[in-house]
Amino acid sequence: MSLDLFFQPRSIAIVGASRTPGKVGYEIIHNLLVGGYEGEIFPVNPKADDIEGLRCYPDLPAIGSTPDLVLIVVPAPHVPAAMESCANVGVKAVVIITAGFKEVGEQGADLERQVVAIAQRENMRILGPNCLGLVVPGCKLNASFGNELPPAGDIGYVSQSGALLTAILDLATDAGIGFSKLVSIGNKADIDELDILRALADDPQTRVIAGYLESVVHGDEFVREAEQISQSKPIVLLKAGGTEAGAKAASSHTGSLVGSEVVYESAFSRAGVIRCGSLAEQFDYAVALSYQPLPIGTRVAVITNAGGAGILAADAIERSALTFAKLDPATEKTLAEKLPPAANVHNPIDVLGDSLADRYEIALSVALDDPNVDVALVLLTPQAMTRPDDTAHAIVRVNAAHPDKPILAAFMGADKVADAIEILRAGKVPTYDGPESAVRTIRALVDYVRWKQRPKRVVKLFPVNRHRVERIIDRHLRRDQREIGEMESKEILEAYGFLTPRGSIATTADQAASIAQQIGFPIVMKIWSPDIVHKSDVGGVRVGLNSAHEVRDAFDLMMYRIPQKAPDATILGVLVQEMVRTGREVILGTKRDPQFGPLMMFGMGGIFVEVLKDVSFYLAPLTADEARQMLVNTKTFHMLRGVRGQEGVDLDAIAEALQRLSQLVTEFPQIQEMDINPFVVGPPGVPPIAVDARISVEKV
Ligand code: ADP
Ligand code: MG
Repeated sequence: MSLDLFFQPRSIAIVGASRTPGKVGYEIIHNLLVGGYEGEIFPVNPKADDIEGLRCYPDLPAIGSTPDLVLIVVPAPHVPAAMESCANVGVKAVVIITAGFKEVGEQGADLERQVVAIAQRENMRILGPNCLGLVVPGCKLNASFGNELPPAGDIGYVSQSGALLTAILDLATDAGIGFSKLVSIGNKADIDELDILRALADDPQTRVIAGYLESVVHGDEFVREAEQISQSKPIVLLKAGGTEAGAKAASSHTGSLVGSEVVYESAFSRAGVIRCGSLAEQFDYAVALSYQPLPIGTRVAVITNAGGAGILAADAIERSALTFAKLDPATEKTLAEKLPPAANVHNPIDVLGDSLADRYEIALSVALDDPNVDVALVLLTPQAMTRPDDTAHAIVRVNAAHPDKPILAAFMGADKVADAIEILRAGKVPTYDGPESAVRTIRALVDYVRWKQRPKRVVKLFPVNRHRVERIIDRHLRRDQREIGEMESKEILEAYGFLTPRGSIATTADQAASIAQQIGFPIVMKIWSPDIVHKSDVGGVRVGLNSAHEVRDAFDLMMYRIPQKAPDATILGVLVQEMVRTGREVILGTKRDPQFGPLMMFGMGGIFVEVLKDVSFYLAPLTADEARQMLVNTKTFHMLRGVRGQEGVDLDAIAEALQRLSQLVTEFPQIQEMDINPFVVGPPGVPPIAVDARISVEKV
């Protein structure tokens, strides 16, 4: 069902209308009137005759017709009755502004369930409860108790926090930023972020979708749909509640649970969502996307009247891994002809401190005509001779003449550039408070373009032995064993094409010695116990044992010492294992997120993983490109690739292993978590080995 009744209602009733300024039931009517809403407004309140000159009705049936949209502001305990009354007159769209539902605890949650049940029974849609309402500037519709109506524009905004939306409205009005729609989704009892995302995706007035979210309801679906939407419209999100402290605040705030930071990071990057660290950053990105075309490349030309500002920009460009455009000789020649001799005609183009508007206009225009330039960044500092307003007008003219390449401006200062900034904004040139935020924005645009041009996702399927894995997992689950130990985890891995060291179990010192002799020295001995997860921690790993004698001694020592260190552990024996040649130790892992599914991990392995935390994540299933990118995203990558004359390792083999693992967890939803640590990798041609592994499973 479309949300048109919400966005273009021909008539609105307010249940709980009030005559008292300061009350929500009054403010919302006031906002509708001041905003210039052109449809009919029906205040509903049995105790009032008229509100702000509008006839007031005792109840919904008294109106005599069915309003397109009903705004409910009565106290929470009365909301179910109000919903029933809506149902009676055939209302299909309701905004419940009232708070006091899920976010206040079990009693509120109960009330919310009642409300949702009525809506489902009657095929009604609800926005809220506990929300600020919605605003459609283009229709002069301000159905909120927020501030005044912002200008109309093409940014659609969805917010999980009503209060934040008031700040956004204020900021936006001040900065002259226009919106197509602003929607406060509150507790998302019915309409959630995905519904709004879909509506904004289909909305011809919306060019950029932006939002503030504390949680995502259906992770899988969100990723799938956002990925599709991002292909045509950028989605710019501010996601709060990612860190542990933030998560606590979020749950007491809207009563919803939030996933962990990395999961969202991975989900957003899969879906092409542009993630922002702050509201300011979000506005920076959204406005650029709204006003300007996307860059086709990474080459930035800087035009400045101050050397220092140019250097700051150059630093920022370098740090962001963008390219400092190398101007075409023809461009430099033209610049040399048209600018004073002291001007710098190389990038950054310095039009000098005494530049008026004309030099800016020439330099910017010539730079944009250069085929080696993808983006222009105009910097201005208000020096004695500077004419900020004229310069702003000049830039706006050039902008209009060059609709194909993005222009961003940073007029640095305060009072002296305030009017100029207004002029730039009115002319759809996004402005930034300095080169750093402008460059960060260019980076975000470039990343988005890259994402849009990514190769089609093809997930490779390897031939594997699923049956063998199924047997092991089923056996564990039947016995209610959630942890699969090293031996059987490796069996599972072998079924998916991994190589593991040869070895077997021994329960006596003599048996250990004879297995060792069969395998050949040196060998490794590891404790075998279902209760010991980290074997090294209890002295349960001995590497480099070189004789039957050493093996027997090591066995006796483990049997003596480990029960002292881990008195509760059941010790079944030891694993006598081939010692693999040295190589680099990396970790491959996975953890299933209840919202988004399995998350893959890659990083620096060994026994210091938790200390170094040099790891990267991505959502399964992985493509070859994504697996490769996971490697690149760690610091370990540079070591693995080979530094200072050291030979690199087989990176493709690691990427393939990640894809095989991703296939394993995708095919077996029972797998909750697993580690291969260490995964020992050697130079190209030498197959890597899964030296240690553990898997935890759950019934699904
Ligand atoms: P845990 O992680 O439970 O402490 P591991 O099996 O990962 O135990 O062993 C700890 C370390 O011992 C590994 O990181 C690796 O350096 C080394 N190691 C373990 N098994 C072998 C083996 N078969 N060949 C070579 N080195 C090994
Ligand atoms: Mg290990």
